[in-house]
Amino acid sequence: MNNSDLTPEYLFLLSKFQKFKEPQEFETEFWCSILKQPTASIIETLRNQGYLIKADLKTVLENKCKINDLKEMLKNLDLKQTGKKEELIDRLLKNAKQELFKDYLTIVLYKCSPSGEMRAQKYVEEENRRREENEYLVVNALKEREFVKAIREMVKFEASQIIPRGMGIDWKNYNLEQIDVEILTNIFKNKPKILSDVDDDKSEVLRIGASMMHLYGAAAADKWFPTNFETKSRFDNNTAARMLLFHVEFLREKNDINNSIKSGIATIKKIAIIAANDSCEECKVMANKKYTLNNIPELPYEKCTCDLGCRCCISPVFD
Ligand SMILES: [Zn+2]
Repeated sequence: MNNSDLTPEYLFLLSKFQKFKEPQEFETEFWCSILKQPTASIIETLRNQGYLIKADLKTVLENKCKINDLKEMLKNLDLKQTGKKEELIDRLLKNAKQELFKDYLTIVLYKCSPSGEMRAQKYVEEENRRREENEYLVVNALKEREFVKAIREMVKFEASQIIPRGMGIDWKNYNLEQIDVEILTNIFKNKPKILSDVDDDKSEVLRIGASMMHLYGAAAADKWFPTNFETKSRFDNNTAARMLLFHVEFLREKNDINNSIKSGIATIKKIAIIAANDSCEECKVMANKKYTLNNIPELPYEKCTCDLGCRCCISPVFD
């Protein structure tokens, strides 16, 4: 294998060694299946190619010893304990017998060589660029309300990742497209009362952010908001976007309950609202009652005063 034909798996593993690390970390069954071959054999190839270097004893001590460990060792040898970490290590290596380091001599650490670092950096940059391009495409599709296209671009990207996101999602045979279309459609179609202060232009931006959070399983949408983006909502941008997602979730659950009632699968007479332990008083008072589909308050609850926004959810009460 020469310079130019390291597979993505090799480059991916190489990029994990931009700092000194124990290869053991990557020798688990999970990593071997991700890398499609035993990690040890990839590491051996990368070493033979000169992309990885092994740490000497001094480097192992630098990486694995705390200052206090070194001082303790020096103290036991009646040696001076002052100086920077490097000086302490040099003093130890000069004065102590090999025996003292026996625990450290067995530790194997690897790091990219200068040429390995170049390959790793280029790989990481390329991957970041690919991610940005993908997200750009998806944001544009959302702006055009081309939801199927947005979903398919996201799925194509996730399927190409060495470590795919989400446990148990088969990105190569993705079967949640219909649900995603429904969620995206609802994000753009509905606005909860809790965001009534937000005008249409700003809502559009929040909706794009909320859709990206949903599609990429992201906890925050900052990177998809324009710089200095602000709404008149009392919430920060991420919380406001999350309120859009919660509202869609609420509509979905309400619809599910309605369908169960109509189909006669379950006898549901009442619906409970469950508040979080640290929810505001407004939410707690509201959550304390039982509701029907006709009189259930909209969630997220309009009157909620929590900084994190309303986190209440609904749950059917079965007979
Ligand atoms: Zn609340």
